[in-house]
Amino acid sequence: MSTTEIPTVTLNNGVTMPRLGFGVFQVPDEETTAAVAAALAAGYRSIDTAAVYGNERGVGRALAESGVAREDLFVTTKVWNADQGYDATLRAFDASLDKLGLDRVDLYLIHWPAPALDRYADSWRALERLAAEGRVRAAGVSNFRPAHLTRLIERGGLVPAVNQVELHPGLQQAELRAFHAAHGIATEAWSPLAQGAVLADPAVVAIAERTGKSPAQVVLRWHLQLGNVVIPKSVTPARIRQNLDVFDFALTADDLAAIAASDRGLRTGPDPDLFD
Ligand code: NDP
Repeated sequence: MSTTEIPTVTLNNGVTMPRLGFGVFQVPDEETTAAVAAALAAGYRSIDTAAVYGNERGVGRALAESGVAREDLFVTTKVWNADQGYDATLRAFDASLDKLGLDRVDLYLIHWPAPALDRYADSWRALERLAAEGRVRAAGVSNFRPAHLTRLIERGGLVPAVNQVELHPGLQQAELRAFHAAHGIATEAWSPLAQGAVLADPAVVAIAERTGKSPAQVVLRWHLQLGNVVIPKSVTPARIRQNLDVFDFALTADDLAAIAASDRGLRTGPDPDLFD
């Protein structure tokens, strides 16, 4: 598939972001270059990493070696909890840029609210500065609940362009998605496949059998029809390609209703209110 076929979402500051990207959580730095190279060769243009993943250098190497023009790439990274605070976030951003070998990123996220630290509003001021300087094209957050988002919105500055949260058929986040829609915040789903845990879901398997698609493709298609941005991870070239091949079929209203019934509060990651 050519990259032009990946649909985009227009963020609240006018920047466009591919609705399907490639995640590299838990990929060791030395394996990351090959995985990202495979993703870029398959047609992905959006890559999601984070300082804490320890693989920004591997991502940067793959980007540099790919020959893909910088303006065709969409690179996301995240400030880790230990680097929250205004000055610390600015320093962490410089370190991430250095590792990625870039002079700006397309999306910079506060990785977790870490409410016990009570520093995410200070980090947000740093992201506002980076956005004003053009060093980040869009500023966003991750794992924020409505209360955390409201605190940022009520400051009267930038509204986060994106909230990247755990979201999959086992944790559908309807209330949070409605909050995002009401405030112009794009919903980005992390662990869109629940790290594989939703691939045996009976509703998903039944749709896969009927459509001739794989369970992973059915789940990714479900995300896209819900309006989410998705960033599936794989280090397996055939799966990397397969996860992009989700634009030639559609789930019916009955399919969507069947998957809606799979919502069961399943978390692969920690509770954002308790994690720091
Ligand atoms: P995913 O839900 O993307 O699942 C990845 C797992 O599914 C891997 O084990 C992979 O195996 C397997 N898989 C991928 N494609 C297929 C397929 N077609 N068929 C069968 N199995 C498949 O999990 P992640 O937790 O990695 O989430 C995706 C991305 O979200 C991360 O990489 C990261 O970028 C982001 N993220 C962000 C977080 C945050 O706090 N902001 C937290 C967690 C993730 P294999 O690799 O062996 O092929």
